[in-house]
Amino acid sequence: PVTAALADLSAADLEAFLAKTRADLDAFKARGLKLDMTRGKPSPEQLVFAEGMLALPGNRDHTSEANEDARNYGNLQGLAETRKLFAGTMGAPAERVVVGGNASLAMMHDVIVWALLKGVPGSARPWSKEEEIVFLCPAPGYDRHFAICEEFGIRMIPVRLTGEGPDMDQVEELVRDPAVKGMWCVPKYSNPTAETYSDETVRRLAKMETAAPDFRLFWDNAYAVHHLTDAKAEILNILDECAAAGHPDRAFVFASTSKMTVAGAGLAFFASSEANVKWQQARAGKQTIGPDKLNQLRHVRFLKDEAGLAAHMDKHRGSLAPKFKAVTDALQARLGGLGAATWITPAGGYFVSVDLAPGAASRTVALAKEAGLALTPAGATYPYGKDPQDSNLRLAPSFPTLADVKVASEIIAVCMALACAEAEEARRKKAA
Ligand code: PMP
Repeated sequence: PVTAALADLSAADLEAFLAKTRADLDAFKARGLKLDMTRGKPSPEQLVFAEGMLALPGNRDHTSEANEDARNYGNLQGLAETRKLFAGTMGAPAERVVVGGNASLAMMHDVIVWALLKGVPGSARPWSKEEEIVFLCPAPGYDRHFAICEEFGIRMIPVRLTGEGPDMDQVEELVRDPAVKGMWCVPKYSNPTAETYSDETVRRLAKMETAAPDFRLFWDNAYAVHHLTDAKAEILNILDECAAAGHPDRAFVFASTSKMTVAGAGLAFFASSEANVKWQQARAGKQTIGPDKLNQLRHVRFLKDEAGLAAHMDKHRGSLAPKFKAVTDALQARLGGLGAATWITPAGGYFVSVDLAPGAASRTVALAKEAGLALTPAGATYPYGKDPQDSNLRLAPSFPTLADVKVASEIIAVCMALACAEAEEARRKKAA
């Protein structure tokens, strides 16, 4: 690897760099590898941490604190002890927490469908009766959020991220349009940039004047307790801030235990104002007679309390932190000083976000594929799958073994270096 920036290399040095990097990539290709870093899935090792939970609540243990039979129908909102256990994570008193099924994404989806068909508290009419509905989408962001909007014809406007959350000058300007009804927010360890919203960002989101009286923040706190370092990020309580600013119904808060216990069979949560919870429960009551309360009991028996949850999350951190370090070490070793790539060192969450020279993202994915490594498609982190610069890539190191993450990271770094050097070569040809 060179230490000089690609842009400063002589023509001959750039040629030499390209040749050397191509040779390094060929060496990986010759190994016939098959690796996958596409999605933020917990590894088998992580799932084992919750193995003990699967045997719970256990023989004849199916009675809640309120003496309900957890095996039977009923209790739409969820067991009081389960809501209490996650009240802190949700930032709401247990009375304003709802326990859903196994996927917070399903709760977000349903809330949007209900908003379209019925409107939310404060709506003049169902959202679908408006000429156009627009959502603000901090980007890069979570592709499945964007997919819900695309599914229902909600127009998405990307918003720049600053490192402390969305660019609030831009947001405050955009919400002056009454068509803007919603905004996606992953406020802590955001997917994929791992940034955490600053207090100022949260306050401005709570306070801003929106033209739509029924504007909603879709506050997806999916990584609320998913720390990778001792510096455990805290964010301001959005529900409290909104209430204090005179917008008590502005935020819908979501989270789940998908990346705490088991991803396919965890618990999803919704929390909001009294009016919003009442609204959600009225709709949910038409959908189901009640949630899976045995799973709720299982989670309470296993995690016990907030301290139990924190101790459990430390196990995940022990498994994940070395994988994240392997990624950032490999990027630094190969790309440090090239002046063509920037990346984050996440303090939590599930992703490493990398920004490359324009045009180099899709080329990197194609090169990695040749070497047997599957990456998230370039553009996936943007509304409509279109990254205007073709520069952002999301790396997801949780699932493969540490040994595989190490190899995959080296391949990624080589592919990125090659793609950026090719982009530099193309830039010079064009300028000549
Ligand atoms: N929100 C974000 C930001 C995510 O990254 C993910 C993926 N784990 C989800 C939601 C999906 O959560 P769930 O499994 O609860 O549907």
